[in-house]
Order: sequence, then structure tokens, then C-alpha cells
Amino acid sequence: MTTRLLEDRYGRVASDLRVSLTDRCNLRCSYCMPPEGLDWLPDDSVLTDDEVVRLIGIGVRQLGIREVRFTGGEPLVRRGLVDIVRRTREVGPEVEISLTTNALGLTRTARGLAEAGLDRVNVSLDTVRAETFAAITRRDRLGDVVDGLAAAHEAGLGPVKVNAVLLRGLNHDQGPELLRWCLARGYQLRFIEQMPLDAQHGWSRETMITADEILAGLEREFDLAPATEPRGSAPAELFLVDGGPATVGVIGSVTRPFCGDCDRVRLTADGQVRNCLFAREESDLRGALRAGASDDEIAERWVVAMRGKAAGHGIDDPTFLQPDRPMSAIGG
Ligand code: SAM
Ligand code: SF4
Repeated sequence: MTTRLLEDRYGRVASDLRVSLTDRCNLRCSYCMPPEGLDWLPDDSVLTDDEVVRLIGIGVRQLGIREVRFTGGEPLVRRGLVDIVRRTREVGPEVEISLTTNALGLTRTARGLAEAGLDRVNVSLDTVRAETFAAITRRDRLGDVVDGLAAAHEAGLGPVKVNAVLLRGLNHDQGPELLRWCLARGYQLRFIEQMPLDAQHGWSRETMITADEILAGLEREFDLAPATEPRGSAPAELFLVDGGPATVGVIGSVTRPFCGDCDRVRLTADGQVRNCLFAREESDLRGALRAGASDDEIAERWVVAMRGKAAGHGIDDPTFLQPDRPMSAIGG
């Protein structure tokens, strides 16, 4: 067995693996999916639990993966999730394991996930008003998300982070309210700029809420000062709220890109490696797995896939083309 790093032509090393466990979801966030959902991946193209764990094992043992984040679609709808987490913990006792989720059903699984070895969760929540929640997600489930967050906190899956997207005309003015709500509960809030990754191609530069706007909105009610800790490869710029120690983060993926420090690599639910959220090409590991490739051969394919990583996402480039797959199918 050889050990290598997932290094690209620009010297960036990927050590943070985002694993999508399904493209399916029980919400329909307007910036992510159309109301009717999408054509889901056929069952036989989705990696089995054994295949997922084998690929994670190759990443951890042979390719320097130090962080595994499960995502989707909605990872909590994947039946084998707790077992996949347990087996990931066995493969990588030192690996940081986290989950990005909409928290529906987390009340039932938070404790089991913590016992299986999950370290923490990121929960997506864009508003604490029931009517705005229903307008954004097209489902009336705010109470379940709030309960799921509390269950994660109680199960020790912290620090619990909350991810929020602000949308003009829906929740653009609710940033301070959401921050106050999170501060009161000890959750770390991070705002994410909306990206051109929705299946409906509804994103526009003109209507997106920028990091500058998000910060200006928060500063009307809070005193924000840049946190001094180095940002490293973390996408969020952190600000101390009212002198700290609490912080709020802003992820300016579009207007403040952090591609130069990116340490991420993605594995889709159907076993394709993507070296970037915005990549237009994927490398098929599922085919190699099912054709009987050895761990070394799969690792080699993975290394080659990373070399082609672009320097940046190029959203501002006039020739920019949105990837064929939406965020829910890539794994956010
Ligand atoms: N269903 C899970 C959830 O919502 O957390 C995991 C998958 S979701 C695709 C992962 C993250 O991507 C969520 O925080 C969501 O808000 C974010 N997201 C989805 N579409 C986005 C877009 N067009 N721009 C920015 N963030 C987006
Ligand atoms: Fe589902 Fe997450 Fe997309 Fe919302 S953002 S529709 S919860 S995958």
C-alpha cells in the first residue's frame, strides 16, 4: 500500500472529503430544487454502504483524508447512515466526522449518531419564522428542524453550526433575528452567499444577497469585529459579535472566493469524484470498484482526478457555465 496526497497543479492538498449519501431530499429549498423534486439517481447507481466505506477507507489510509463530512441531498434519509458513520470511525479513529443536514428526523437519530462516532453537525436553517420557512422550503416543518437542532446539541454533536442562505424578498432582512436566535441557544451561525447551483438555474448575480449586504444588515444591530484566529482553509470569515466570545461567519463563495485555500474533494452518491463544486468533469470510481479494481488502482484514479482541479470557480468569468448537476446531486 502506498500513501500519497491528493495534490493539484497549484499545490493545494485536499484532506477534507465531502461524501454525498443520496441525492434525495424531504425539503424543496427554492435555491436548491424545483417544487416537484428531481429525477433521482436509480438505486443501482447509488453506492452501497460497503462501497462508500471502502472508498472512505482508501481516502483515509492512502490519500491523506483527515475530515469526512456526510451530506446530500438529505443524508438523514439514507437508511444505513448510523452504520456508515460507525464504520467510518473504525476506519479513521482520528478523522473528524461531521454531517450537513436539514435536521428533519434528527431527534430520533442524534444520540445514535453521536454514539457511532459522529463529531458534529451543520444544520441548514434560513429563518425562524414558520411562514418564511414554508415559503423557502415548500414544507411546513420549522418545528421539526428546531427540535432536531436541540437534539443534536443535547447529544453533544457540537459546536452545532447553523448554515443560512439569505434570499431577496423572502428572508433578506432576517439576518439579525436569526443571529439573535442562534446566540441564545449556543449555535454558531454562518451565512452562505447563494451560488449558481440550483437545478432550475434561477440564480442571478443581480438579485443574490452579497457578503457585504449580509454584514451591513447584521451591523445595524450588532457590533462585529474580525476574529483574529487565522482562517486557514475554512471558507467562513468569522466576526466576533458584540466583543465575543460568540462569533458569526460569512461564506462569500461568490464575492469573496477562497479557492486558493481550498482543501476539499467531493464524492457523489453514485461514486464520482469531483475536485470542485463547480467542476464540469467527474471521475468515475464506482465503475472501477465494480470492475474489481484494487485499492491501489482506485487511489491512483483519485490522485489523477485531483490534478485537473481548476484554480478557481470562475463564476465571474463571462464563459462560466453552471455544472450539469445541481448542489443536491453533487453534495453541498
Ligand atoms: N440537505 C442538507 C442540508 O440542507 O443541509 C445537505 C445538503 S445541502 C445541498 C448543503 C448546503 O448547501 C445547505 O446548507 C444548503 O443551504 C446549501 N445550498 C444549497 N443550494 C445552495 C445554493 N444554490 N447556494 C448556496 N448554498 C446552497
Ligand atoms: Fe434538501 Fe438541503 Fe437542498 Fe434544502 S438545501 S432542498 S434540505 S438538499
